Amino acid sequence: MKILVAVKRVVDFNVKVRVKADQSGVDLANVKMSMNPFDEIAIEEAVRLKEAGIATEVVVISAGPTQCQETLRTALAIGADRAILAETDAELQPLAVAKILKAVCEKEQPQLLIMGKQAIDDDSNQTGQMAAALLGWPQATFASKVVIANGEASVTREVDGGLETIALTLPAVVTTDLRLNEPRYATLPNIMKAKKKPLDVQPVAGMGIDVAPRLKTLKVAEPPKRSGGIKVADVAALVAKLKNEAKVI
Ligand code: AMP
Repeated sequence: MKILVAVKRVVDFNVKVRVKADQSGVDLANVKMSMNPFDEIAIEEAVRLKEAGIATEVVVISAGPTQCQETLRTALAIGADRAILAETDAELQPLAVAKILKAVCEKEQPQLLIMGKQAIDDDSNQTGQMAAALLGWPQATFASKVVIANGEASVTREVDGGLETIALTLPAVVTTDLRLNEPRYATLPNIMKAKKKPLDVQPVAGMGIDVAPRLKTLKVAEPPKRSGGIKVADVAALVAKLKNEAKVI
């Protein structure tokens, strides 16, 4: 069974992002970029399925500029077998990525497309759902457990108020939640080995896909600054404030 894993290059989760002065977006100049954390979980799950003898090949795909090759090399160091870069300098919105994933799935014919539940830069939580719809495949979003057996996937999903387990026929799309697994660190020998693994660059321009944006960003603003605290005279004053002024936010 072949697994395709989608990974996105995003601003590293430790970076304190700054909004550009003209409010057109976030300042990306000299900012550390990394693999989207939910996608690390997706790679880890695919590699574990390979180690368990369930998957035979793990192929990783990223769509974006040439620098995404670094992200793909990280995925190869974690244990993916080969990588595809759908290369473009154009801004890609979730629908465009979903169309690219559909085209790659049609070519590669994986039994499972596994990806993050959301990218931490745009927080869209759309790409997996759109890819499943375009492919006509079943989907299990927010997965916290994945079991593959007899041509079926049994996926436990994190839903409000508990866990839901569903069965899906393959091929299917699974999006990963935080508790699915704890991704391993890439070891130095594996980082070295990853440099020799195949990485195929395919220009998006040659795929015949309409990736034009459908959404326009009107404004990006910083969250409101926290106002300073005050000192209260005694416990009674604190309790009174908590009772009368504190709000649940
Ligand atoms: P989003 O819908 O933007 O929140 O992203 C959800 C998931 O879609 C991510 O965790 C990735 O697995 C995948 N994805 C989004 N954008 C890309 C991209 N440019 N290249 C590869 N995968 C992507």
